[in-house]
Amino acid sequence: MIYRRYVTVYRHISGSYGPIKKQTMERNDNINIVIFGAPGSGKGTQSAKLIDRYGLYHISTGELLRDHIKRDTELGRIANEYISKGQLIPDDLMIRILDDTLEREAKGKAGVVFDGFPRTIPQAEALKELLRKRGTDLHAVVGLEVPEDELVQRMIQRGKDTGRADDNPDTIKNRLKVYHDQTHPLREYYNKENKYIAINGTGIVDEIFNEIARGLEDKAGIKPRP
Ligand code: AMP
Repeated sequence: MIYRRYVTVYRHISGSYGPIKKQTMERNDNINIVIFGAPGSGKGTQSAKLIDRYGLYHISTGELLRDHIKRDTELGRIANEYISKGQLIPDDLMIRILDDTLEREAKGKAGVVFDGFPRTIPQAEALKELLRKRGTDLHAVVGLEVPEDELVQRMIQRGKDTGRADDNPDTIKNRLKVYHDQTHPLREYYNKENKYIAINGTGIVDEIFNEIARGLEDKAGIKPRP
């Protein structure tokens, strides 16, 4: 399904900055959103609400890899080496997996919620290129911001509730370190691109989602599915 929506286009003429000419045009773009945040920040929970309200396709790289591990595929065996230590899967492999997933699963969809990707600057650059290649773009990055002690508590609890193997104290510690070193710089990267929408990720799930929807609709001009 393709969305038809009206957006305001600001033309930029060389030598001057800012919106100097405003025109309205009809647009059939996909809507592509990254849901961003540390492990345990609620990306999966809020993704489910995003796909429902905006009619988008969900790609969670973590879930995709866990599915391979469960099915004991070749990729699953490789991925498990990294995931069990709280490390990231190497960029080149992860980017190939994402490209392949977009090709096989996201074609013809109204757009995608990227959950857990990108996690590094090279992945962000690759995402830009993968979307450009498909004639589309990234429209917004929703950043769920949660204090570290709460992240740890949530992951410990999730480990107990679901048995998720990497939700154990040692691996959690490493995942948070990897997040700070390699993933957190993307906040600034997307801030500079004017795409980052900061969301307080603590409190009641529905209230957090209301803040996300307000941000997407007011700041990024994204409309709910009809
Ligand atoms: P998640 O479910 O998003 O927390 O991901 C679980 C684990 O999968 C991470 O700790 C990484 O080991 C791996 N993983 C998921 N997404 C990526 C990615 N974009 N790049 C590298 N590794 C990833």
